Amino acid sequence: MAFSIGEKPGTGRYCCTSCDWSVTLDDARDTLPPCGNCGAGQNTTYNRC
Ligand SMILES: [Zn+2]
Repeated sequence: MAFSIGEKPGTGRYCCTSCDWSVTLDDARDTLPPCGNCGAGQNTTYNRC
């Protein structure tokens, strides 16, 4: 299951499906940010990893 920028998928680690960049959400209210590698303009999706 993939998640998009702005979603609140809950705490955990998420990896960009286009590159190796990952982000860890430590609060259930956190939203997925734009990928730190692909950039804000990309249609980035994330998977749990
Ligand atoms: Zn990326």
